[in-house]
Amino acid sequence: MKIGYDENKLQQLEIFYDLLNKENMKYNLTAITDYEDVLIKHYADSLALLKFIDIKPEDSILDIGTGAGFPGIPLKIFLPSNPITLIEATEKKVNFIGNICDELAIDDICLCQCRAEDIAHDDEFRETFDFVLSRAVGNLSVLAEYSLAFVKVGGHFIAYKGEGAEEEADFSKNAINLMGGKLENIVHFNLSGSDNKRSFIIIKKVKSTPSKYPRSNATIKKHQL
Ligand code: SAM
Repeated sequence: MKIGYDENKLQQLEIFYDLLNKENMKYNLTAITDYEDVLIKHYADSLALLKFIDIKPEDSILDIGTGAGFPGIPLKIFLPSNPITLIEATEKKVNFIGNICDELAIDDICLCQCRAEDIAHDDEFRETFDFVLSRAVGNLSVLAEYSLAFVKVGGHFIAYKGEGAEEEADFSKNAINLMGGKLENIVHFNLSGSDNKRSFIIIKKVKSTPSKYPRSNATIKKHQL
């Protein structure tokens, strides 16, 4: 699918870049700061999802471990009517995203400073999202445990990954299955203007996640599924 854009969306991405660049000097929000790199490795990568996945305007989206707002903020710019929630553990990053939303006049994003494995047990969040996304947060086995509890049965968890996605999916089969997920597809793509190989691991939620998952961070670290 072609990704549609207009002057306003491009301007919003420019404002985002300016603030990211300025704040990054103080707080080290992201290692990717060069303008061209931000366009390709942050913006094009975040938005590549829209080429492969049909997201309807009412679909709810959760981005776990959004960091400085990737992929959640570029997606919100391109999907303004979708309800989007961003979860991030670090206060300075959450504050940064709050400023970005003010600058971009985005007033309908839900922004939570918390750890995913903690609020996954909260009824307000558990099994309530059509799409749960995560980029550069952990290995797939850990991510499946963090993420699948948030997905509605029939919805999807999609992990942004690089090379080696098949091996990672194979290694994480047990965790995916225990969380009520089923590997649906792995999509490979190249980021525009680079030979950077990327992939989406697409997992469908086929049954409810048992209430004991996700476990605490300490237990997940000690014993990966
Ligand atoms: N997704 C962003 C990106 O692709 O640029 C940020 C990636 S950064 C490497 C990982 C982020 O995930 C960090 O900002 C970290 O604080 C956050 N994070 C890691 N584990 C988390 C958890 N369990 N719950 C919430 N945030 C988490």
